[in-house]
Amino acid sequence: MKTHIRQKFIVGNWKMHTTAFEAEQLARGIIDGLVVADHVTVILCPPFPYLALVGDMLKGSQVALGAQNMYPQAEGAFTGEVSPTMLLDLSCGYVILGHSEGRHKLGESDEFINQKVVCTLAAGLDVILCVGETLEQRKSKQTEAVLDRQLSTGLAGVPSEALSRLSIAYEPVWAIGNDEHHATPQQAHDVHLLIRRKLSQVYGETRAQKMTVQYGGSVEPENAAAFLGQPGIDGVLIGGRQPESR
Ligand code: PEP
Repeated sequence: MKTHIRQKFIVGNWKMHTTAFEAEQLARGIIDGLVVADHVTVILCPPFPYLALVGDMLKGSQVALGAQNMYPQAEGAFTGEVSPTMLLDLSCGYVILGHSEGRHKLGESDEFINQKVVCTLAAGLDVILCVGETLEQRKSKQTEAVLDRQLSTGLAGVPSEALSRLSIAYEPVWAIGNDEHHATPQQAHDVHLLIRRKLSQVYGETRAQKMTVQYGGSVEPENAAAFLGQPGIDGVLIGGRQPESR
């Protein structure tokens, strides 16, 4: 099997954290402190209100701008929602979709996430599609079935030509923002294999081998290298946590 050099993603999901001042400080520190290697894409996903602020700071840097969500309509009477057109207007290149906090805290269905995936790609934005099982699902050996469903439904109608603009983030719900349960690099690796096998069943081995599959779930400076060192883990998605909420 020919091995492809896949793009590595390092994504910062700031969640609903930071003030405008903190967002500016954080972005400044990252821009000034970062040397981005070839084959690495670094993406910052601040909250919606700070996209313009952070986006302006990122112009001319090696860091890309992403959003944490979006609503699958170009415009309309959808109070409180943000459209792909608006994100493009702000020079956003990426959108995180299917995050477990949307799935489990806000009740987003696989079908709704799929609408978002299709709409985002059609609008010209790149998608980071999050998938992952809960602790109960893992304990009852449903991990593969859950991922199968999230990927099958989430990617329904996505043409293979659009795959170069789509990456997958494996985020086990039990390991997100969790000090007690951490996935080991080996556990993450094993599930990444399942994900790539599923992608290969849907899109064929060659296309599946080219896709970026990143890991997210309590990635910290101390363990990032161990995850990134696993074959098949093509990056990390790092959530924002404030010390008092840990
Ligand atoms: C996330 O929410 O996408 C995430 C990975 O969070 P954390 O790094 O806090 O586990």
